[in-house]
Amino acid sequence: MLLYETIAAAEAALGRNLTAAEALWFRYSAQMPDYLLYSHNLIFLFIVFTLVPLPLALLELRLPSTLVPYKLQPKVQLPPASFFKCYKDVMRAFLLVVGPLQLFSYPSIKFVGIRTGLPLPSAAEMAAQLVVYFLVEDYGNYWIHRLLHGRWGYEKIHRVHHEFTAPMGFAAPYAHWAEVLILGIPSFVGPAIAPGHMITFWLWIILRQVEAIETHSGYDFPLSPTKYIPFYGGAEYHDYHHYVGGQSQSNFASVFTYCDYIYGTDKGYRYRKAHLAKLKEQWATGGQNGEANGWNQNKKSE
Ligand SMILES: [Zn+2]
Ligand SMILES: [Zn+2]
Repeated sequence: MLLYETIAAAEAALGRNLTAAEALWFRYSAQMPDYLLYSHNLIFLFIVFTLVPLPLALLELRLPSTLVPYKLQPKVQLPPASFFKCYKDVMRAFLLVVGPLQLFSYPSIKFVGIRTGLPLPSAAEMAAQLVVYFLVEDYGNYWIHRLLHGRWGYEKIHRVHHEFTAPMGFAAPYAHWAEVLILGIPSFVGPAIAPGHMITFWLWIILRQVEAIETHSGYDFPLSPTKYIPFYGGAEYHDYHHYVGGQSQSNFASVFTYCDYIYGTDKGYRYRKAHLAKLKEQWATGGQNGEANGWNQNKKSE
C-alpha cells in the first residue's frame, strides 16, 4: 500500500515524474495491503509449477522420439500416471505446507524491510540483489542437502525426493513436507541480508522455481541460455545426483558447482564424465562397444 493519495502527490514527494513502470505500480498497488502483495508469491508458485514444466511434459508424453537426443537418461520413459501423481502431490504440498508458510512468514518480511513503495529499484539494483540471493541460497541449500544425505535424514525425509531416479520438471519440488519447509529457509536468508523491493522478491521466487524446474527437467539442451552462467550446474549436473540416488555423495549444490568443487563432493561426477569421455573415444576409434545403460551415454560430447 502506497503512502500517496494520487500520482501527483507521489511525483511531488519524489521531485520528478514517475516512470511508466512506477505509474503502473502505483495504479496496481496503491490501495492494496502489503500482506496481499506478499501473498502474490503463492499464486506465482502455482502458476510457475503448472505452466513451466508443461510443454516438455506434453512433448515427452506425445512425441518422445523428438527429445531423445537431449534426454539424459533415454532408457527411462515415465508413464502419464507418474506425471499426474507427481503434480497432484506437489500441489497438495503447496496448499498444505508452502501456503501456510508463506502467509505466516509475512511479519518476517516486514521485519527485514522488504519495501513496496516508490521509487522502484533500478535494473542494476535488482540484478545485484538477485545474484546475492542465488549465491546465499545455493550455499545454504548445499549444506542442508548434504546433511539430508546422512542415514537418518535420507531414510526419514530426503528419500521421497529421490523416488525419481530420472527426474522431470514437475518433480523439482516433489519432496517430504519437512524438506519443503527446511529448504524454504535459505530462500529467505538472501532477502534478509540484502532486502529489496517486493517486485525483486517476486522475481526471486519465480526465477528460483524456474531454475529448479530446468535443473530437474531430465534434458540437456545445447542452446539453453543457462549455459552462459558461470559455475552453473544445470540439468546434467543434478540429474547425475538423482541417477546415483541415496548413495550419492556427489553434486549436492542446487544451482552452482563451486560448493561441490570446494568441498570435494563432485568427485563421483567428474570420474563418471572422464570415464564416459574415454568410452566415447574408444567408440570413435572402433575399439569397444561401450555400455548400454549408463548415465548420460546419449550425449555426443562432454
Ligand atoms: Zn539428494
Ligand atoms: Zn533434485
